[in-house]
Amino acid sequence: MPLGTTQPSVSQEVAHEAPAAPTVRKANATFIILCRNSELEAIIQSVREVEDRFNRDFNYPYVFLNDEPFTESFKRRISVLSPSLMEFGVIPHDHWFQPSWINEETASAARKLMELSNVIYGGSVSYRNMCRFNSGFFFRHPLVQKYRYYWRIEPNVHFHCNIPSDPFLYMQDHNKTYGFTITMYEFESTIRSLWQTVREYMSLHPEQVHPDNAMGFISEDNGAHYNLCHFWSNFEIADMDFWRSETYMMFFEFLDSTGGFYYERWGDAPVHSIAASLFLPKDAIHFFDEIGYQHTPFTHCTANTERWSNGRCSCDPSQSFDYNGYSCLRQWEAVAGRH
Ligand code: GDP
Ligand code: MN
Repeated sequence: MPLGTTQPSVSQEVAHEAPAAPTVRKANATFIILCRNSELEAIIQSVREVEDRFNRDFNYPYVFLNDEPFTESFKRRISVLSPSLMEFGVIPHDHWFQPSWINEETASAARKLMELSNVIYGGSVSYRNMCRFNSGFFFRHPLVQKYRYYWRIEPNVHFHCNIPSDPFLYMQDHNKTYGFTITMYEFESTIRSLWQTVREYMSLHPEQVHPDNAMGFISEDNGAHYNLCHFWSNFEIADMDFWRSETYMMFFEFLDSTGGFYYERWGDAPVHSIAASLFLPKDAIHFFDEIGYQHTPFTHCTANTERWSNGRCSCDPSQSFDYNGYSCLRQWEAVAGRH
């Protein structure tokens, strides 16, 4: 039989004749994947695991974003991985590139200095573009606007456990806004003036700071200093209504107007984490303990043996980052209680 001629029409007929699938309750949610054409193999691996461990039973859609167009072969290789809707978008120029009002002389001097002191990605402009985009723009992309919840996926990550129940519905049903699996300390040299800027913002808009906030997660002295703790944002399941809110938009604009994304190297992880910790009630932040997750070099693997065996997890709980010296789960549990 000649390949690729009869096959598609046969499967279409079958689809038409099949009885209507039972309606399963779903959230208004999507996966969001920012990546480069050159990361094709690495993102295939991530998507493959998302599908195997979760999405084959849920069929949530995907949005792939890039600062340049995805190639036809990229789209072809990705589209075959799941029957779910997959959309591929280009990021608007002004949502990505360094704004013209940034003083390039100051910015390049800062990059040089950071590179000399071996700060990770210290000399990179594209990394700064990415951090600023993830802080203030991804949720405004035309392909993303129709969705409320998202799950951020990166190239080369691993999902170690089956995820039999829907994390998006969990968020929706329990009034959760921000979900994480791994926490850690930020490199201070990348955010030297961030906390001072945040404190200025808080003094201008004290009414935006939630009375039941999670300040205890990000500060050991009730806000005088930042303890560098943040949720590791390469994994995020969150509610974009929060990023789109007036509070967060004003906060982002305020941070952005200082140029700190370029004059320093502010990461989207501390920016998201500080906003979530200050502007949300602390119980709107959720630790997804049951989701075994790896972004090299760190892994979260639940310590709960029942969750671990029910999830048929492929990770080793003794290797979990949770109580590593660089983890901030202790601070989180001090604020929120044990999971
Ligand atoms: P790390 O996790 O902090 O080491 O940074 P990554 O290199 O993994 O980048 C974070 C995310 O942004 C990943 O999903 C990357 O694919 C994506 N990313 C980083 N830089 C660029 C870029 O210049 N263009 C595009 N399209 N994606 C990028
Ligand atoms: Mn990464």
